[in-house]
Amino acid sequence: TTQILLAQRPVGEPDAATFSTTTRSLPELEEGQVALAIRYLSLDPYMRGRLSAAKSYAAPVEIGDVMVGGTVGEVVESRFDGLAPGDMVLSYSGWQSADVVDGRHVRKLDPTLAPVTTALGVLGMPGFTAYAGLLEIGRPKEGETVVVAAATGPVGSAVGQIARIKGARAVGIAGGPTKVRALTEEFGFDAALDHRAPDFRDQLKAATPDGIDVYFENVGGGVFDAVRRRLNTYARIPVCGLVANYNLTSQPEGPDQLAGFMGQVLTQSLTIRGFIQDEFTRSHGRDFVREMGEWVASGQVRYREDVVEGLENAGAAFAGMLRGDNFGKLVVKVS
Ligand code: NDP
Repeated sequence: TTQILLAQRPVGEPDAATFSTTTRSLPELEEGQVALAIRYLSLDPYMRGRLSAAKSYAAPVEIGDVMVGGTVGEVVESRFDGLAPGDMVLSYSGWQSADVVDGRHVRKLDPTLAPVTTALGVLGMPGFTAYAGLLEIGRPKEGETVVVAAATGPVGSAVGQIARIKGARAVGIAGGPTKVRALTEEFGFDAALDHRAPDFRDQLKAATPDGIDVYFENVGGGVFDAVRRRLNTYARIPVCGLVANYNLTSQPEGPDQLAGFMGQVLTQSLTIRGFIQDEFTRSHGRDFVREMGEWVASGQVRYREDVVEGLENAGAAFAGMLRGDNFGKLVVKVS
């Protein structure tokens, strides 16, 4: 198997020195195991946290270890009842081209129901993040305004479309005119705006005439700063991600805004609740599989994928994602 390892912890943006490549032979199959040829690797923003030794909700990848990640693999050899060569499975094999895993630790995929890559995106972890975070914490009501950034990504695009299914008005924020156009034309957002535009704050004001009831927080940074000035009383803020901060090496410049923001939380009765998606697996997992499966099959929820060829390009593609180079769910076609 060809493997991408963490070579050195990045300061700021990950670069070529962050990762290294090696080749190893895999162990012989034991009873209960399957051998996988990895077809697709998911690249996700949370991986930036794993590159860092800072305390977080999950342990960091150690220097010299294979980078972690969700994968779709094809069974090439099986000593596990219920899986046979040719079967496609969801595994957590990380950044490598082949793996040997316990058959109980993978989920068999049905390629006739949906393309297998959707198990890494709209029908997988990112889609579930949007579904559970929006419905459980955001709780959009009919006629309310829901705002989300990174809105062409797998989480944001699902947030906007689910909000509309629930009768809310969806406002999407993305970087650059091509992505902004896709928000209304492809994903059906009611309004779309560019966080890089010089008049972003004015655009946001125009797009949210009735204020904001739910802000699904994916990015932090300047977007949050603008959005918080448009929040309504009793607004809900599921805090899902802060991708604008992931490469920061120092505190943002300018005055500390915490006291002002806490005052706003108090006087506007805001609900702010962070979450890591897997806390909702038990409570929302089954409903997600059923409802999201139906929405995707019927075209009510659309998705976009950005497929990069070759495991050797994973590191650069990952770094690019944190800058917004990806357009849709970023996956690597491994082989
Ligand atoms: P995306 O595919 O949307 O990729 C990240 C996007 O963030 C970029 O494409 C870019 O889009 C945007 N971005 C980067 N920097 C900035 C910035 N400074 N300001 C505004 N936008 C920026 O990723 P995902 O959909 O996979 O993830 C979205 C968020 O959800 C992330 O924060 C991630 O960490 C979080 N997440 C959290 C989970 C949880 O359990 N809590 C689980 C899964 C994801 P653009 O070009 O449009 O600016």
